[in-house]
Amino acid sequence: LERAKKVLASGVSSEFRKYNHPHALFYTHGAGSKIYDVDGNAYLDFTLSQGPLILGHSHPEVMQAISEYSAQGQLFAGQHIREVELAEKLNELIPSAELMRFCLDGSEAVQTAFRVARAKTGKNKFLRFEGHYHGWMDNVCWGLSAPSLEAMGSREHPNVFPWTQGLPQGVDNDFIVLPWNDLELVRKTLSERASEIAAIITEPIMCNNGCIEPAPGFLLGLRELCDEYGITLIFDEVITGFRISLGGAQKYFGVTPDLSIFAKAIASGYAISAIVGKYEWMQLIENATVIHAGTMNAGNPTVAAALATITVLEKEQPHQRMFALGKRLMEGLQQAAQKHGQSMLVEGPGPMFAISFTSLTKTQDYRDTLKADKAKLNKFISAMHEEGIRIIGRGLWYISAVHTEEEVDHAIRTADKVLKSF
Ligand code: PMP
Repeated sequence: LERAKKVLASGVSSEFRKYNHPHALFYTHGAGSKIYDVDGNAYLDFTLSQGPLILGHSHPEVMQAISEYSAQGQLFAGQHIREVELAEKLNELIPSAELMRFCLDGSEAVQTAFRVARAKTGKNKFLRFEGHYHGWMDNVCWGLSAPSLEAMGSREHPNVFPWTQGLPQGVDNDFIVLPWNDLELVRKTLSERASEIAAIITEPIMCNNGCIEPAPGFLLGLRELCDEYGITLIFDEVITGFRISLGGAQKYFGVTPDLSIFAKAIASGYAISAIVGKYEWMQLIENATVIHAGTMNAGNPTVAAALATITVLEKEQPHQRMFALGKRLMEGLQQAAQKHGQSMLVEGPGPMFAISFTSLTKTQDYRDTLKADKAKLNKFISAMHEEGIRIIGRGLWYISAVHTEEEVDHAIRTADKVLKSF
C-alpha cells in the first residue's frame, strides 16, 4: 500500500477509499468465481471486475484464443478478417445491428454515438436520465445532474465540471436531464424542445445507482416518441449487453434502438467496445471519418476475447441459469434481512441486482436511491468482505456463468451471519 500511494494517484482501488473500506487489497490472480489476494485468501467474487467477467475469471477458452491470436502479432482495425467475423457475429445476435464500429471502451463508444446522432439529425442536444452513467468523459460524467453531483462529492472541486454551475437544476449546455421512468415528463419536454434534441440516451436497465428496471412501456414509449419527433434512440448496453441476453436488453425487452453501445461482457472485459446501429445512422461514419478514430481499436487479442466469449455463451446458453441463480440469491438475502429485522431492498432482474437499506419497497428513480442508508450498506459490504465475499461498493451483485448454487447458498448463509450482528 505504501508503494502504491507513492506512485498511483489514488493509491489503491478507489472503491476502498470511497467507501472507507478497512482493507487495501492486492490480488494475485482470479480463477472461475474466485479471486485471490497476496496473502492467499480466496474471495467469492460477485463484482466480476465491475461486470465484464460473465464467464468468470480466466476462462480457459478465452485465455487460449487470446494467446493464439496474440502469437500472430499485433493487428488492428481494418487489418484482419477476425474483426469482420466479430462484426458478422454481432450483427446476427443484436436485433438493431446493421453496421458497427469498434472502440476501446464504453465511454468512447458513447461519444461516437453522440456524433453519429448529431450528424443524422442536424441537432445538438441530448436527453438523458438522472443516475444513469454513460462513461467518464466530460460531457456525460455523473457531475451532470444535481443530485448526482452531491452524491459524488464533486462539489469539493466545482471547477472540474464548470458547466454545472449557475444553470437550472438538471440542465446544462448539451444535456437535458430528466428523472428516469417518467414518460409523461419526457413527452412534455419533447413537445417543447424536440427541435433541439438529437438523441435520447438511456441504460435499458439503470444499473449504476441501484438496479432499476424500466417501468412497463417506458422503453417502448421512448421508441415511439423518438419516431414521432425524428430523434435518435440510443441504448447504452455496456452493462446489459450479453448479461441479460445474447442480443442485449433490446432483445430481452423487444424494443429496438437506432444506436447502441456494447462493452464489458462482450469480450470478458478485454478492451473492446462496439457501437452498433441501423444502416442510415452508421453509414454516416463512412462519409466523415473524423466521427470515429482510434489507433488501437479492434486489436486482434481483444477481438479474440470477444469471439471466444460469444462462442462459449452460445454453446453453454447460461442466461436462464444466471437468472435463476440471481433470483435465488436475491430471495435468500431478502429473507436473511427480514429474519434479523433489517429493511433491505433487493432489486434487479437476477444476472445483476442491487441491495440497499431502505424502508421503500420499490425504487422508482435515482432520487429514491439517495434515500437509502449508505453507512449501513458500507458496513454490510465490509463485513461480507471480511467473510470472503466481494460485492461492488454501491451494493451491486453480478452473477457469472460459473457461479454455482452452493456458492450462492454460501453467500446467503454469510449474509445471514453478518446481518445477525447488525
Ligand atoms: N455506460 C455504462 C452503462 C457503464 O456502466 C459504463 C461503465 N461502467 C460505461 C458506459 C463506460 O464504460 P467504460 O468504463 O468501458 O468506458
